[in-house]
Amino acid sequence: MDERAKTTTASRRGVLFGILGSFSAAVAWWLGGAPARAKETPGSKPAQALDWRPLSLSREQWKKLLSPAAYSVLFEEGTERPYTSPLNDEKRAGTYVCAACHLPLFSSEAKFDSGTGWPSFYEPIAGRLGTSRDFKLVLPRTEYHCARCGGHQGHVFDDGPEPTGLRYCNNGVALEFVVEGEPLPPLRQKSRENPAA
Ligand SMILES: [Zn+2]
Repeated sequence: MDERAKTTTASRRGVLFGILGSFSAAVAWWLGGAPARAKETPGSKPAQALDWRPLSLSREQWKKLLSPAAYSVLFEEGTERPYTSPLNDEKRAGTYVCAACHLPLFSSEAKFDSGTGWPSFYEPIAGRLGTSRDFKLVLPRTEYHCARCGGHQGHVFDDGPEPTGLRYCNNGVALEFVVEGEPLPPLRQKSRENPAA
């Protein structure tokens, strides 16, 4: 894990320095173009700029679009049973997108085996998650959700590995995995079937 973390950090630093010049304009554009969000989580920079706007659909609309299990987690803050998601054992390179609105939330580079039975990551893609506190287990926990659609994803804890020390404990059913080389699904949009809520 240490070796892998070092390699990941080193390669990220290399990538950062290598393309910083040409990439900074795109990042600035992306930051300027993204909607203002009060509480952003830190994280890795996205691989490419993505112009996205918040998506607001009614619960009834989401219910029609999602499986009952995904709806329960994403919009009723349910928790899937551990070791039930095939994404728990997913080890290929790729991108994890929100199962509701398809916003890319995590890179496979940040995934690690937490042994908890839920897909776990040490950081999200920067700016793609919002957080809130909940008290469902009496002690306060930090809930996080997709910044675009508000769909609940999981909880973040401070017992994760380097380089962040964080553990984003995610419900697998709230994510879809796209293997590297495959196109990402288009962001879900309002349509005639899904008009503005
Ligand atoms: Zn979403």
